[in-house]
Amino acid sequence: MFAIDLSNKNALVMGVANHRSLSWAIARALHEAGARLCLTYAGERLKSTVEELAPQAGGAITLPCDVTDEASVQALAERLTREWGSLQVLVHGIAFANKEDLEGTFVHTSRAGFFTALDVSAYSFIHVTGKLLPLLENSGASVLTLSYLAAERAVPNYNVMGSAKAVLEQSVRQLAYELGPKNIRVNAISAGPVSTLAARGITGFLGMQKHHAEKAPLKRNVTTEEVGTAALFLLSELVSGITGEILYVDAGYHMMGA
Ligand code: NAD
Repeated sequence: MFAIDLSNKNALVMGVANHRSLSWAIARALHEAGARLCLTYAGERLKSTVEELAPQAGGAITLPCDVTDEASVQALAERLTREWGSLQVLVHGIAFANKEDLEGTFVHTSRAGFFTALDVSAYSFIHVTGKLLPLLENSGASVLTLSYLAAERAVPNYNVMGSAKAVLEQSVRQLAYELGPKNIRVNAISAGPVSTLAARGITGFLGMQKHHAEKAPLKRNVTTEEVGTAALFLLSELVSGITGEILYVDAGYHMMGA
């Protein structure tokens, strides 16, 4: 009675770089639940990797989409309109900041670096959701993005990405408010540190992971699979009453005081 069945649901999962990507774990979980998938990747460099993964996700459609390139976002919206005409699941697993803005002092963040991080990691969530709104409307759709605790706490070296995640989480609430009347739910997962391409760009990431594992109640880090299944839960009808929520999937780390 409580099984998650997403057959005949169309799911767009953005931000697959490789088999370690959180987006890929989410895509796998959605596929297991029967969803029809489209995966997007940032550029030509990632094309072959994502095309090789697609058969493991039911022969998912694979498309390029660089969220900083308007033509690319427009092409994605047009292709999905032609291909599917409606979208029940949208997953945004995209973030980027320049390497020099993920180390050293936050106080010296450049204007360009700040805008880049917020553009790719936060604005893109609002923009893509808006572009795909005609497909999401009247579909009982669910939208999900991926955040981190640095949205609300100071984390060494996370710097400008913490600013981006704060904006992202506020955007979740604002979009949830605005799109609720259209029966679109908007939520985020705040994941604990997982070793991915993006995470390894943060100076001191391995130390951060070790610290989380030591302090978290479960005494370990979460796996990409755990993020994938939690995402499936949030995207499913099982939680049709939840929107505007940030769900922590971090082995309990976030609620510790000392
Ligand atoms: P990842 O490197 O696998 O994924 C990041 C994705 O963003 C990549 O696919 C990359 O190509 C994409 N991207 C970057 N610039 C882009 C652009 N201009 N257009 C389109 N796509 C672009 O790493 P990940 O850890 O799976 O990251 C996914 C999300 O999860 C990010 O938002 C990240 O901040 C968040 N997150 C990760 C962790 C972690 O520890 N790994 C923890 C909490 C939250």
